[in-house]
Amino acid sequence: MKEFVIRNTKFLGVSTGGVETSVIVPHLHLAFDSGRGQSPLIEIPTLLMTHGHLDHASGVPYYVSQRCLRHLPGGKIFCPPELEDPLRRVLAIWCEIEDFQMEFDLQGVDYNTHYPLYGNFSFKAIRSVHRVPSNGYTIYERVRKLKKEFSHFTGPEIAEKKKSMDLFEEVQSPVITFSGDTQIEFLLDNPDVRKSRILFHECTYVDEQRPVERARKWGHTHLFEIAENAAALQEVDRLVLIHFSPRYSRDKIESALKRHLPPDLYARTTAFV
Ligand SMILES: [Zn+2]
Ligand SMILES: [Zn+2]
Repeated sequence: MKEFVIRNTKFLGVSTGGVETSVIVPHLHLAFDSGRGQSPLIEIPTLLMTHGHLDHASGVPYYVSQRCLRHLPGGKIFCPPELEDPLRRVLAIWCEIEDFQMEFDLQGVDYNTHYPLYGNFSFKAIRSVHRVPSNGYTIYERVRKLKKEFSHFTGPEIAEKKKSMDLFEEVQSPVITFSGDTQIEFLLDNPDVRKSRILFHECTYVDEQRPVERARKWGHTHLFEIAENAAALQEVDRLVLIHFSPRYSRDKIESALKRHLPPDLYARTTAFV
């Protein structure tokens, strides 16, 4: 897994389309997708699974078993509701194979719930558009913000007024979103995805040889669609593109990004290769 820092936040990850995707957020003690179950993942107590394709989910049994072996508490695993039962069956079969009852806490997500993480953080699952039931996740931070009606106040006015009235309100600010595998509708249809400080979005294809229709047919996003919808990404501080097809070299990806993304978006984009 490769370590990288985006907007002062450390991540650890691996992501190649059809091969393996898993991104760990160490300071939140969680990971998006298990990938094939690499060692740094074992210490992470919460797994947010986007869907059941093997490049994203085959590491779940290994993760569960390794945590038992190391006497760590059963990991919390969230997944699309339709995946819960099949995943439970897979894990039951592996318990049978190992003749050992492994501990884990698996639950299908409820799309209307803010699940608490530690401190001021929480997460919510958002349905995405793929070949199988899937969702992405947004991490929120609870912050206190000046109420809109007082936004014209100057610093000294705020200092004076706040002695007698509450000028602030609590809001859930979207800090990180992880798309998993999805068509671009995941971005277009969800305001909190578009407002995320850091957005991990899949971008499986980048050239004419694999056109937009093909990406859509397989439930993926094409670089050309991201370029076309740059306006939807105006509020995103950092766009991290993941899940590139293994057919592309790093150079090919970098030059495609430079050629097709509008300069303002290109300056805010990182290709995770
Ligand atoms: Zn995938
Ligand atoms: Zn997939």
